[in-house]
Formats: sequence, structure tokens, C-alpha cells
Amino acid sequence: MPFTNAELLVVIDRVCQAVIDHADELTALDRAIGDADHGLNMERGFRAVQSQLEKWRDLAPGAVISEAGKTLVMTIGGASGPLYGTLFMRLGQEFSRVPEATQADLAAALRVAIDAVKARGKSQVGQKTLLDVLEPVHAHLAEPTKGSLRELAAVADAAAQATIALKAERGRASFLGERSRGHMDPGARSCALIVAAAAHSLAGPVPSGSTQDNAKEGLR
Ligand code: ADP
Ligand code: MG
Repeated sequence: MPFTNAELLVVIDRVCQAVIDHADELTALDRAIGDADHGLNMERGFRAVQSQLEKWRDLAPGAVISEAGKTLVMTIGGASGPLYGTLFMRLGQEFSRVPEATQADLAAALRVAIDAVKARGKSQVGQKTLLDVLEPVHAHLAEPTKGSLRELAAVADAAAQATIALKAERGRASFLGERSRGHMDPGARSCALIVAAAAHSLAGPVPSGSTQDNAKEGLR
């Protein structure tokens, strides 16, 4: 899976576009259990990243991811800005240390970045946040034999769906207590969109003639 900087810019561009394309959906989710700004916040942040990609063309991949993180901190705002900013900045730092990004490197970098998000949000898995998507995504990537990149979008999507049943214990949704159950967490949904876009882009086109379920999933 090692990638060039040009390939990484394509991956990030797809991630930005996925967030932008789903901004209304994210805002609708946040309307149900928050303050109806998650889509607006995320769209602002990822448009800012997208508009700077060309400027970062000559940077090393780790530096590009770090710059994206800094931009997200400065532009998303809300609770999610510092969290997504931390995620990308720490991922970038970790990537800077490895010459080639193998799946194992990606899993190790994600481990460090997720722990930084937990520290920043004083949050854990099970509290109905983006961490409820990040943690299963990491577990899948860290499984070298079973955890293929093509299946990652489905893993992230199922994890976001699973937040519907949870009671929010962090962020604005926690003010609703039990009434937060029955709604998908907006941050979990945005995180699943980001993971799916990145995984599809990194995994590349599905080989023609493939009949595997996971390959079909990759086209979604
Ligand atoms: P705000 O809550 O300030 O309006 P957003 O609407 O942009 O910010 O983001 C809300 C999302 O942020 C939630 O759906 C949740 O996933 C995530 N979130 C909020 N607080 C925390 C926290 N302390 N730890 C982890 N994630 C959090
Ligand atoms: Mg909000």
C-alpha cells in the first residue's frame, strides 16, 4: 500500500469531497441530538483542506497529513475541530517516521492518533462519538490476515450504525441522556465517511470480473 505524495493528495481530495457531499446529512444528524452544525463545521474544514492541496504538492506525505490537521483545527470549530485536527496531526507525525506506509504502519500510526483523540476529548469507546468508529477501524487494520482495506468501509459503516443504540456520554448529545439513544452520532457518521473515502481511494479500482462480496462492497 505504499503511496506517493501525488496519490495521497488524491486520497485526501476524495475524503474532502465525501464530507462536502454529505454535509446536509451530517447537519441533520446533529439537529436530532446536538445543535445542527456538524455538517457546516465539517464542510468548512474540509473545503479549506481541499483548497490547499496543490500548495502541499512538494511536501512529504506525513507533512501533508499534518498540514491538513492544522487546517482542520483552525477551520472546523465546535467540539469536533480539535478532535479531527488532533487525529490528522498525530497521523501525520507518525507517518513522517516511516519510509513506506504499509498497512501495519497505518495501523500503528492510527493507534497513536486515536489515543491522542481520546486524551483530547477525555473520552473512551462506548460514549457515542467518532471513537466508536475509529477503534473498530483500527482493530480491522491491525489484523494482517483478515483485515483487508476493501472491507474497511463496511466496518466503519457498521460501527457508525451501532452508535444508534448507544447513550451519549460526551459532547452536546450527552445533555439528552437516555433520549440520545435511537439516533446515529454525527461524528461517528462523518468519521465513517472519511474512512470509507480513504479506503476506497487507497484500495484502488476493484479488479474486473471479481465476484467477491468484499470487492462489490468496495464499489459502494
Ligand atoms: P459541537 O458539539 O461543538 O456542536 P460538532 O457538532 O461539530 O461540535 O461535533 C459533534 C461530534 O463531536 C459528536 O457527534 C461526537 O462524535 C464528537 N464529540 C463531541 N465531544 C466529544 C468528546 N469529548 N470526545 C470525542 N468526541 C466528541
Ligand atoms: Mg454540533
